[in-house]
Amino acid sequence: MNILAIESSCDETSAAVLANGHLLSNVIATQLIHEQYGGVVPELASRAHQQHILPVVERALADANLPKNELSAIAFTRGPGLLGSLLVGTSFAKAMALGLNIPLIEVNHMQAHVLAHFIEAPRPAFPFLCLTVSGGHTQIVRVDGPLDMTVLGQTLDDAVGEAFDKSAKLLGLPYPGGPLIDKYAQVGNPLAFKFPMSEMANLDFSFSGIKTAIMYFLRDNIKANPEFIAGNLADICASIQHTLVQMLLTKLKRAARETGIREIAIAGGVSANSGLRTALTQLGQEQGWTVYIPRFEYCTDNAAMIAMAAQFKYEQGDFTAQTVSPMPRMSF
Ligand code: ATP
Ligand code: MG
Ligand code: FE
Repeated sequence: MNILAIESSCDETSAAVLANGHLLSNVIATQLIHEQYGGVVPELASRAHQQHILPVVERALADANLPKNELSAIAFTRGPGLLGSLLVGTSFAKAMALGLNIPLIEVNHMQAHVLAHFIEAPRPAFPFLCLTVSGGHTQIVRVDGPLDMTVLGQTLDDAVGEAFDKSAKLLGLPYPGGPLIDKYAQVGNPLAFKFPMSEMANLDFSFSGIKTAIMYFLRDNIKANPEFIAGNLADICASIQHTLVQMLLTKLKRAARETGIREIAIAGGVSANSGLRTALTQLGQEQGWTVYIPRFEYCTDNAAMIAMAAQFKYEQGDFTAQTVSPMPRMSF
């Protein structure tokens, strides 16, 4: 079974080929145009997808050394994501499946982030908990089977990736700032500054308060010392990162306690964060968890995870009609 998968939900155009569970290629074109605007501009994103999609798909097939007529199905991200971006991948996938007369498989992007864990060993055992942390979502998901997932808690406002990116913006760092906070944090003191952590009673999160707290913290300190950011960048980044990571892990610990599940995974772009990876590894040792952390390239948006999710659907004969349209607010 050979699946070609296409991902175009945000600002990465990606295509991958999965043959009987083995990943043969995973091509990712990241759109750099958004950096100058300090965030993803939806209209520019969909235009860039239109430019990239054909070369990216051709490259994925060439890297896999697989002719089109040996494909068994075409998979695509139906949602959640930006409508204009999703439309490009959806339309392309529909046309290609129609042209080759093979099945079409829609994939939920957030389920795919979780299923990125099945691309290569070690694979978590069911049931497991997955902390999915990305640019648009922050969720604790209970995974009882490849396509049997329940959201136990999620953010009520900003996603944690957004909190990283907005904090970075306040520090004058370019978009996307998450990876830069991570970089500077590595040589900073995580306890240098203290930021308030929001306290939600259940397994939900809130990250909008910390963004405001950082804004006032910087404003007050800059008033006293105009060079405050430049002189303390590493310590500020380390302290912000420490706060965000602690907020995530507090809830994850609680979810593990409440469910009794000790198979713990992380997924999504923010799982590339080195502070989170280290802290989770330590916490896992303390708690007796088996912790699963994906390889960097499977954390941020990629089509390999879409192909993986599609393979599970293919096995169940779960195909999609040609009448399908994108679903920007898709849940599961
Ligand atoms: P969603 O998956 O919710 O639709 P998305 O696809 O835009 O959103 P991803 O590509 O999964 O999100 O993740 C992007 C986010 O990950 C950005 O907010 C980015 O700053 C953050 N990120 C990436 N690497 C790091 C890192 N090392 N440290 C912190 N944040 C990071
Ligand atoms: Mg992105
Ligand atoms: Fe994503």
